[in-house]
Amino acid sequence: MPTHAASDVQLDADALEAGRRLFAAPCAFIAGAANPDSLPAPGRTEVAFAGRSNVGKSSLLNALTGRRDLARTSSTPGRTQQINFFDLGGRLVLVDLPGYGYSRAGKKATRNWTRLIQLYLRGRPTLRRVMVLVDARRGLGPADREVMDSLDSVAVSYQVVLTKVDKAGKGADAAEVVARRVAETIVSRPAAHPEVLATSSANGTGIEALRAALAALADPVQLG
Ligand code: GDP
Repeated sequence: MPTHAASDVQLDADALEAGRRLFAAPCAFIAGAANPDSLPAPGRTEVAFAGRSNVGKSSLLNALTGRRDLARTSSTPGRTQQINFFDLGGRLVLVDLPGYGYSRAGKKATRNWTRLIQLYLRGRPTLRRVMVLVDARRGLGPADREVMDSLDSVAVSYQVVLTKVDKAGKGADAAEVVARRVAETIVSRPAAHPEVLATSSANGTGIEALRAALAALADPVQLG
């Protein structure tokens, strides 16, 4: 009879409750940076969200925060081409990085984004983790590997979050199988968090677990 089971369950319930509480707090846009000079000064702990364009990043941020248009979907011009910072309850800053992989903006603009993101990722003492979003139907692609390579090289912790698991297939393509395969692939990467999360903004799968993971990284609740 394993003696740790009850406390594990308790821990999970506490972690989920911490996630629920954190995301019940108000979430507000702080700043958008289209160039390095306009990055806000580092303040609270930050968690950034990265992923290929169209991976479902805006939808995931909206699902997490329970808002319909916190992060604009990629079809909306403007905000998605800069780094956007959102304060969550004064305990965590959610950082929405521009999607990578392709752009209609031309080579020069792409170079500028890449430079901006690299400057941000390298020089941010408050950045606790980067959530690398990966479409569950595609698995890791070359652009994802490049991003993970650069995060490994600057020793910024990151965690893979599968998106759109409601659309995942069956058998070898099932979300749990993809998650396990990705976890096995990244095990030797120095800055990769071992746990791969599987989420769907469409049906809510994994959203509570992701909130719990983020709450574990947030600054403590201020008492008094
Ligand atoms: P972004 O470019 O990464 O911000 O991606 P969006 O959030 O704009 O989503 C891209 C497309 O994928 C949109 O058509 C969304 O409706 C769709 N999408 C996003 N999340 C999900 C999901 O969890 N399940 C399904 N089936 N579709 C999704």
